[in-house]
Amino acid sequence: MLINCGPHGERVATVVCQHLLDAAKLSPAGFVENSSDPADLQAWCHACEEKFLAEGEMTEAFKEFNGMTIVCIECFAGIKSWHTIPAEQ
Ligand SMILES: [Zn+2]
Ligand SMILES: [Zn+2]
Repeated sequence: MLINCGPHGERVATVVCQHLLDAAKLSPAGFVENSSDPADLQAWCHACEEKFLAEGEMTEAFKEFNGMTIVCIECFAGIKSWHTIPAEQ
C-alpha cells in the first residue's frame, strides 16, 4: 500500500499509534514494533503495549486508545528514531 505523504511524496504506508505522532513536543514514548514485514510496518508506544497486554487482544477499547494512524515509511523512520528509548534493548 502506498500513501502520498506531503513532504515525502508517494511512499510505502505504515501504521503507528496516535501517541507517536507529535514527535516534536513529546519526550520519547517508547517504540514497540509489531511487524517485521517491511511492506507492512506497524508500531505503537509503551502505553499502548501495556493497554494491549491488559486487554489481551485488539479490542474496541484498545483500538480507540491506540488511534491507529497511517504515516509514510520515512515518517515512520523519523518517529522510530525519536521515540526509541536508548536504554531499552
Ligand atoms: Zn500509543
Ligand atoms: Zn512522510
